[in-house]
Amino acid sequence: MQYDHILIRYGELSLKGKNRKKFVERLQQNIQQKLTEFPLVKVKRTQGRMFVLLNGTEPNAVMDKVKNVFGIHSLSLAIKVENELEKIKDAALYALTNAENVKTFKITVKRINKGFPVRSQELNQILGGHLLSNTDGITVDVHHPDVEVKVEIRGEATYITSGVVRGAGGLPVGTSDKTLLLLSGGIDSPVAGYLAMKRGVQIEAIHFESPPFTSDRAKQKVIDLAEKLTRYGSSIKIHVVPFTKLQQRIFQETPDGYGMTVMRRMMLRISERVCQQQGILSMTTGENLGQVASQTMTSMNTINEVTNYPIIRPLVTMDKDEIIDISKTIDTFNISIRPYEDCCTIFVPKAPKTKPKRERVNYYESKFDYEELIQEAIDGIEIIKVSDQKKEEDAFEGLF
Ligand code: ATP
Ligand code: MG
Repeated sequence: MQYDHILIRYGELSLKGKNRKKFVERLQQNIQQKLTEFPLVKVKRTQGRMFVLLNGTEPNAVMDKVKNVFGIHSLSLAIKVENELEKIKDAALYALTNAENVKTFKITVKRINKGFPVRSQELNQILGGHLLSNTDGITVDVHHPDVEVKVEIRGEATYITSGVVRGAGGLPVGTSDKTLLLLSGGIDSPVAGYLAMKRGVQIEAIHFESPPFTSDRAKQKVIDLAEKLTRYGSSIKIHVVPFTKLQQRIFQETPDGYGMTVMRRMMLRISERVCQQQGILSMTTGENLGQVASQTMTSMNTINEVTNYPIIRPLVTMDKDEIIDISKTIDTFNISIRPYEDCCTIFVPKAPKTKPKRERVNYYESKFDYEELIQEAIDGIEIIKVSDQKKEEDAFEGLF
């Protein structure tokens, strides 16, 4: 006997009508897409339930993939058997003995199919007796059991589960519109992207590079970060903007201390144009309040002046510790701390103004013609598509 299903529970309670349908269909599609490396595995929906059918595939490897898909509240490995008492007894015993570190258990029977000849209460006793007499050192605890063996008798079959694994939560990626993630090589912006995806948002990324001051390895870092993010959604398109000329010009024209602010405003101007081209409705950044001297309310106010697109800042109120914890969980931390310079660290003024005023910045910007340089940067954009299948290809290369 082996687990042959993964039962998917999603938090759909607040969803109705069309939204619910869209949510469920997208979730099913997203799960299936994550499982292309397992050709026998199928994702099915029946009577308001979603299942992964393993068809003989090793359960834990599949579980690890499905756990990362947004929109899932919790998951359980399950065995499906016919509605026959002996088969149910065997499966319940399998579920109990396959759970780890079990000293106590409880059985919960749900008889949805009222045609099944044994009533819940009686079945509970029969199964409890069967499990007790076929195991050693395990007892019943109805209040705080180590394991709850759940038996659900439905019309088509009976499902037996033991244990519940927490899902990634959130909403299925693709149920909200797209955002353009300003992705640097730092710790924050990949985490911001992850949190936006958690709310169902699909992302494209934009990265500003300044060769030869920034190296190809800095670009690689961004590609690797995007690749980590694809695990939570689908492929990600990165717009790589050549920023050197504009950036040099900014730092020539702007008095020390204001260069950083002007540079950020240029980034937003370019990002907004890319949004317009791509039909994207918002931008997302890893900005945070107070983390560094340049991230003040005044600075945010002045930078934000150049666009009226919504800017999503998922990290704005978080502590650095919390952000680092997430970056470790999503496995971007070790990439982010690779030591290659990005364009901001190179041109960063010795003492950026902590309170850059709109009037001053507008005055400095009026002194030079940046429109042409913006256009040139946009014309020079290189698009890199990072596919979520890359990982599997790499794994294959490693095998041979
Ligand atoms: P991060 O860790 O994401 O680099 P940070 O703490 O270094 O953030 P800043 O340098 O102030 O903060 O950058 C704020 C945000 O601006 C970043 O989170 C990112 O969204 C965006 N950004 C900065 N540099 C770049 C870049 N080279 N390309 C694209 N976006 C950038
Ligand atoms: Mg940074």
